[in-house]
Amino acid sequence: MTRAIASAEILSIGSELLVGETRDTNSGDLAADLSSRGVQVTRLTALPDRLDVVADAFRAALDSADLVVSTGGLGPTPDDLTREAIAQVCGRLPHVDPALERWLRDMFERRGVAFVEANLKQAWLIDGAESLPNKNGTAPGWWVERPGGKVIVALPGPPREAWPIWQEEVAPRLEARGVGADRYAETLRLTGVGESSLVDLIGEERLRAANPIVATYARADAVDVRVSATGEAGHSARDLVDEMLAELMPHLGPFVFARGDETWVDALGRRLEGRTVATVEIGTAGQLGVLLGRAEWLVFGEQLGAGSALAREHRGAEAYAARVREVAGSDVGLAVRVRERGGDTAVTIAVALDGQVTQVTRTAFLGGESGRRRAALIACAELWARLGS
Ligand code: AMP
Ligand code: MG
Repeated sequence: MTRAIASAEILSIGSELLVGETRDTNSGDLAADLSSRGVQVTRLTALPDRLDVVADAFRAALDSADLVVSTGGLGPTPDDLTREAIAQVCGRLPHVDPALERWLRDMFERRGVAFVEANLKQAWLIDGAESLPNKNGTAPGWWVERPGGKVIVALPGPPREAWPIWQEEVAPRLEARGVGADRYAETLRLTGVGESSLVDLIGEERLRAANPIVATYARADAVDVRVSATGEAGHSARDLVDEMLAELMPHLGPFVFARGDETWVDALGRRLEGRTVATVEIGTAGQLGVLLGRAEWLVFGEQLGAGSALAREHRGAEAYAARVREVAGSDVGLAVRVRERGGDTAVTIAVALDGQVTQVTRTAFLGGESGRRRAALIACAELWARLGS
């Protein structure tokens, strides 16, 4: 019986991972690939080189997921125990596979290295397991089919061995079998609202629900609300997400400036509707330029050092906004002036638009470079709000 693979757990095996000597990059790489194929990764685990611990982990993972992928523990030394653990979980005794043994002995001969009997472990197989050729090392992987249609995949630890086996051997097998449940996700990007107030706006009940999942993430440039669903009981994932968005939008709508992986440049561009912008930033160390530099609607961007004569004139930001618009011949003029105050950063934002100049002062509750970066984001939010009013 075969079944589509909808969920997966990943086990990273190796005591070196638990002391931080090796960073576990395999699980993240595999999780990203599996997610992109629509497989829900439900757990990532790092484990020591202990047979009982690893066997228990395989057993538990097989209980809850359709696919269990491990990396590490396939080497020839006694502390490499992944094959033993899988054999134990499957209730099988490993045997030396003659074809694998030939391949292995051959490789050692070609390399002019003496073959130690300990290496034979790498030629092991169990009934129900298929070996996955390793072009970059001596430890082949395993593909093990379980009764009931679940699958175990064991890969060697070194990423330059594990990744090619994954791409060339495992991925085609997964695709052939069918992967992925009906899943869909949409992200709302919010400004002007903290993560804690969001809990009230969304409601605890929605934040606790299992399907669709509503989750909030504080990012550097926004607070993201991600709604994701798995299709169930005649409702497609897309429908479940759309219904939840329709419930949320009356509460969140005023704060939503973008969706998905859109940035401030995209969001502002939409509201500008073809109009152009010129900016002058004072005391920001260029953070506004960093944020907006690539925008097609930006026709002019000037940066004045905090010590420049103009900056010290203490003319209001309003004057700069009007002036930069005039000089650049743009539709909109934006001036941002930043001053550090205590541990915070005061940011004054002036917008010249439609023959009117408006100015506000806000506080970024951070100092130094982080404060200046936050100030530039506040300026974007202010311009965005002004363009919408
Ligand atoms: P093994 O298959 O256990 O012999 O793995 C050998 C080597 O692979 C380790 O010494 C690490 O350098 C590397 N390695 C093992 N696990 C991981 C992992 N999860 N992420 C990145 N590298 C790893
Ligand atoms: Mg190891």
